[in-house]
Amino acid sequence: MQQESVDLAVRGRIVTMDRQRTVIEDGMVVSRAGRILALGPRQEIAARYRCERILGDEHAIVMPGFIDAHTHCTQCFVRSLTSGELPMIPRIYSPAQRSLDAEQAGATVRLLAAQLLRSGITTMCEGTLNPAHEPAIVAALEETGMRCVMARGAADQDFHHAALYSQIADRSWYKAREGEAERELAATEEFLRRHPPRGEGLIRGSVNVSALMNFSEAYFRGGAELARRHDTTMQVHIGRDREEVEFCLSVFGRRPVERLADLGVIDEHLVAVHAVLASEKEIELLARGHAGLAHSPVECVANLNAIPNLPRFRAAGIRVALGCDNQANDIFVNMRAAWLIHGAKWGIAGYDGEFLSAGDIIDMATIEAASVLRIDDIVGSLETGKAADIVILDGSGPHMMSMQHLSSELLRYASRAEVRSTIVAGKVLYSDGDFTTIDIDRLRQDAIAGRDHVREVVAARRYRPLPAW
Ligand SMILES: [Zn+2]
Repeated sequence: MQQESVDLAVRGRIVTMDRQRTVIEDGMVVSRAGRILALGPRQEIAARYRCERILGDEHAIVMPGFIDAHTHCTQCFVRSLTSGELPMIPRIYSPAQRSLDAEQAGATVRLLAAQLLRSGITTMCEGTLNPAHEPAIVAALEETGMRCVMARGAADQDFHHAALYSQIADRSWYKAREGEAERELAATEEFLRRHPPRGEGLIRGSVNVSALMNFSEAYFRGGAELARRHDTTMQVHIGRDREEVEFCLSVFGRRPVERLADLGVIDEHLVAVHAVLASEKEIELLARGHAGLAHSPVECVANLNAIPNLPRFRAAGIRVALGCDNQANDIFVNMRAAWLIHGAKWGIAGYDGEFLSAGDIIDMATIEAASVLRIDDIVGSLETGKAADIVILDGSGPHMMSMQHLSSELLRYASRAEVRSTIVAGKVLYSDGDFTTIDIDRLRQDAIAGRDHVREVVAARRYRPLPAW
C-alpha cells in the first residue's frame, strides 16, 4: 500500500474528548497543514501514513490542547499584589495595566503564553480593554503561535459608585460618553473583519463588553448584535463583586444578570465571566438564554473570595469553561482547584461528593470550553478535520503507574510536570523544556523589568506595604 506522508505523527494513549469520549489505548494521530488527517489504532494509522519523526511513546497520554477560557495578559506583572486590596481592579490592576507601554504589553503576552504552553494550553481567551495595546498584543500572539479568542472593547461610560454608608448622603450614577459606543463598536467590527470568528486564522475576534458599570446600554445592545451577526461571543464580567451588585441595585433597581436580561443580551453568544454572586434566579435567566459561564477557580479564591454555585449552574444545563485568569496559569492547578473547592463547598451539603465528576471538569478545560467560546468547530477534541492542537503528557511517572481510572487520576495526580509537548496547528511550540517561538532569556529580562515597573506604580496605592518576602 502506498503510504501518504504527513507533517506530524503522535503516538500514545489517545484521549479524544469526542462525543463518545473515546480513548484509543495504543493510538496515533497524524496531521497535515495544521489539521488532523486521521487518528486510530497505531498499527492501522502507521501502515497508512509516513512521517519522519513520531512524537510520544508507549507511556504518553495524548489529549486535545487545553483551553484557558478567560485571561488578561497585561495583568502578568502585577498578579500577586492584588489580594485583599479591595476593590483591587480599579485600585491595583487597572493602573498597573494602563501604565504599560506597547512593548511591555507585548512582553506580557509572551510571558503568559510561555506559562500556558508549559501547562499544555493551546488556546487562550484574552480580554483587552486598551486599544493602545491591541496591535502589540496581536503581534506578540502571532509571534508565539498560540491560538487565541481575542475579545476587544473599550469602556464608554463614566460612573460613580457611592459605597454603602456613603449612600446615606450620596447616590451612585452613570453617564455614557456621547458617541463612544458607536465609535468603539465600529472598531470592534473592523477587528472582527481582520480576525474572523469563523476564519482560518489562529486569532478569532470576539466582543468584550467588560462590565455594567463602565459600558453603556448602547454598547451592550450593539455588542450583542455584533456577536450574533459575526457568530462570536460577547464576554461580560457579571456578578463579580459586591460593589457591582450594589451599583446595579442602586442605579437600575435590578441585580446584574437581571439588568442583562432587561437589555436583551442573554443568548448563546454571551459568556458570563465569574458570576460568583449570581442568585438562583439569575442563574435561571442565564440558563434560559443558553449563555455560557467562564469560571476561574483560582481567581475565585485569590481575589474574588467567593465561588459560583456550580451545582445550580450545572443542574440548569449551563455550559462551563475553565479559565486561569492570569492567576495560576496552569490548567492542572485550575482543574484541581475546581474539584477541591466545589467538592468541599457542595459535596456533603448536597450529600453528593461526586456531583462534579473528573470527566466533567476535564470537559470544562477542553470540549465544553470550546463550546462556550464558540470554537468547537476547530478545537476542544481530537477528531479528523479539527486543528492539530495537541498536548502530549508523560504517563510514565510512579504516580501514574497503578492507574485505575484515567480521568480521575489525571485530575487528582497529574500536573504540568507531565506536559512534554504542546502543539498548535501541527507546530510544536513547547517540548521538554524548550520553547520554539519564545526567547526565554529575553523573556526573563522583560519579566523582571516589568515586575519592577508595576511595583513602583502600585506601591503607594496599596493599603499595606509591599510584602517583604
Ligand atoms: Zn476578567
